[in-house]
Amino acid sequence: MSERIVVVGGGFAGSDVARRLEKLAPDAAIRLVCPDDYMLYLPLLPQVAAGFLPAAAAVVSLSRRLRRTVLVPGRATGVDLAARRVLVRSITGNPEVVPYDRLVLAPGSVTKVMDIPGLREYGRGCKTLAEAAFLRDHVLAQLEVANTSHDPDERARRCRFVVVGGGYAGVETAANLQLTTSVVARRFPRIDPALVQWHVVQHHDGLMPGLGDRLGEDTRRVLESRGIHVDLGVGVTAVDDETATLSDGRELPTKTLIWTAGGSPSPLMGRLDAATDHGRLVVGADLAVPGHPEVLALGDAAAVPDLATGGGAVCAPTAQHASRQARTTAANVAASLTGQPTREYRHRDLGMVVDLGGAEAVAKPFGVDLSGVPAAGVTRAYHLWAMRAPAAIARVAAAWALGAVEGPSTVRLGFLTGASGRLAEFEHTDDYLDPTETREAIAAIPDGLTPRGSPA
Ligand SMILES: Cc1cc2nc3c(=O)[nH]c(=O)nc-3n(C[C@H](O)[C@H](O)[C@H](O)COP(=O)(O)OP(=O)(O)OC[C@H]3O[C@@H](n4cnc5c(N)ncnc54)[C@H](O)[C@@H]3O)c2cc1C
Repeated sequence: MSERIVVVGGGFAGSDVARRLEKLAPDAAIRLVCPDDYMLYLPLLPQVAAGFLPAAAAVVSLSRRLRRTVLVPGRATGVDLAARRVLVRSITGNPEVVPYDRLVLAPGSVTKVMDIPGLREYGRGCKTLAEAAFLRDHVLAQLEVANTSHDPDERARRCRFVVVGGGYAGVETAANLQLTTSVVARRFPRIDPALVQWHVVQHHDGLMPGLGDRLGEDTRRVLESRGIHVDLGVGVTAVDDETATLSDGRELPTKTLIWTAGGSPSPLMGRLDAATDHGRLVVGADLAVPGHPEVLALGDAAAVPDLATGGGAVCAPTAQHASRQARTTAANVAASLTGQPTREYRHRDLGMVVDLGGAEAVAKPFGVDLSGVPAAGVTRAYHLWAMRAPAAIARVAAAWALGAVEGPSTVRLGFLTGASGRLAEFEHTDDYLDPTETREAIAAIPDGLTPRGSPA
């Protein structure tokens, strides 16, 4: 019987592990559990939210990328580590059990939600394709409604947008969406463009502290030159349908609070019988879970020792690490099948790129500070290179070329009309089961519900 390898998550980490294992473990039966049939290229989400890219341009088809991996369309909601079974909620809603000999966990992260009154109800995320699409429609709808409102207070409230978080996700989201709202506002006769206000609220004293003071300041200059308010050293203490309250006492009338203040590892990690570090699953430098050599974890969901930095550091949750860790993970899974020694993950970070929309960006490739047009060139070239799928690269390049001439697409698509917009609804954070619940749920499933073709 061939060995059964199950990969959970089809993002940067999981899809690459499966793709590499197809070659490295030719006799193994590989299954990839993922709720979506695409790999989402998250760094492009702010451009999707702003209408500079269509949603389909930010994804790579898994069925096209993977040749013999069987896709299991669903979400892993629990794992019975002792019985080596993954409990999956299929996209049909039915539970399924997927047994494994080797398990690779790469379910990524979700938006980090803090205990702030109103945040769960009124905070909007930008972590999934659905959230980006929702955000775009929501922002465009605010301007449309403001244009027809006779109430000046309502007009002002709908035209103010608050982004919480001055990391790369928040900065890119604010920078790109502000460009779009400035285009749209000029088309509406009853909206004074000066009424459209964007705020970036950042708890730290600088933007994107990981990129250093100089690039943080360059970013701030670009944002402020577009009229975006950058509020540093300030947090949000409450939010409701009408107002965001800041820690300095200000009350900003707004219908839109975009919450990008960090990520939390997938809740699945905290539901296993295994140690976690700040929610990330603890693994060794060989990416295996201590006590469970048959289970490996990587990407945003795992606390992978950062041997290049040393001193007990763990790797930052970046796409760069996730993709590099995939190489080591696939090699180690394949090695374990043939009794070969495994290797340690070691990678020195190559830097970050941050798209600020238009011809503006900041980047730090190999430790060199870049801003303006050179950074924009590096940023776009890096994204195209990192997508590594010719059809996806062509789609993004064509959309950028069109966007440079036409500007962003500013139509509301309306697919998500009726969605609550709540983080938990879009990111399914309430779906997970603890080990006891997982065992009970697995025991309750009739044998016939295991996925077709899974050798039990
Ligand atoms: C707006 C934004 C911009 C970013 N920009 C950059 C950047 O410029 N550079 C950079 O290096 N990093 C960037 N990042 C971070 C980067 O995207 C992540 O570090 C990277 O995606 C992590 O890869 P991953 O495979 O661990 O997780 P993901 O890419 O998030 O993939 C997780 C996968 O698991 C699936 N999944 C989730 N839960 C389950 C489950 N229970 N069962 C099965 N499947 C599941 C998801 O659907 C997804 O397919 C950005 C992030 C955001 C949000």
